[in-house]
Amino acid sequence: MSVGASDPVRCTVCRLHRGRTQVVLPDGPAGGLLAIGEAPGQQEDATGIGFVGRAGRTLDAVLERLGVARQAYARTNVVRCRPPDNRKPRADEVLACRPWLEGAVRDLRPRVILAVGQSAAAQVMSVQWGAGYLDLVEEVISASRPLPSYQGVPVVPMPHTSPLAWNRRRPDGTPIRELGVAAAARAVAELIGDTPLPLR
Ligand code: SF4
Repeated sequence: MSVGASDPVRCTVCRLHRGRTQVVLPDGPAGGLLAIGEAPGQQEDATGIGFVGRAGRTLDAVLERLGVARQAYARTNVVRCRPPDNRKPRADEVLACRPWLEGAVRDLRPRVILAVGQSAAAQVMSVQWGAGYLDLVEEVISASRPLPSYQGVPVVPMPHTSPLAWNRRRPDGTPIRELGVAAAARAVAELIGDTPLPLR
């Protein structure tokens, strides 16, 4: 392991450390719902707190309406340092940060993972999607089939919250928000033990 790889707040393993204000660490309670996002944004980088920008507040609002308050769920990201200009994290950065993500899931022992957006889902789901991520989300959250799992924890994929916040629509005209709420509801059902299907 290189210098900086063993200290979560001083990690320098990938180039993203150069532009960050601070590392955004996981937060929230263990043993419940863990939301995994793509990367910290400007507000997260400035405050050191995950999911506080518009996308994070959108997720808070969706979960709150489903009975899960912000203080009742945990959060982390695929990469812990803000990519410059909010670009997507590169493959080598995602790979470099993966041990931190694996460790967060191990430490937080969630009952269910909510993968918020395609980048997060790609890290915790082994299934491939060719037809489109939103179609995959729709298929996976269908109550008639077991959920995929990561480290033995059921995984629910959902759309990124940005299109929910901006009220974007799918090609068939349905609001992406509808799918996002349905996915979050599936995760909450798993959290409260309402979905006894086995993992696959
Ligand atoms: S993004 Fe992850 S691997 Fe890269 S410097 Fe930050 S904490 Fe380390």
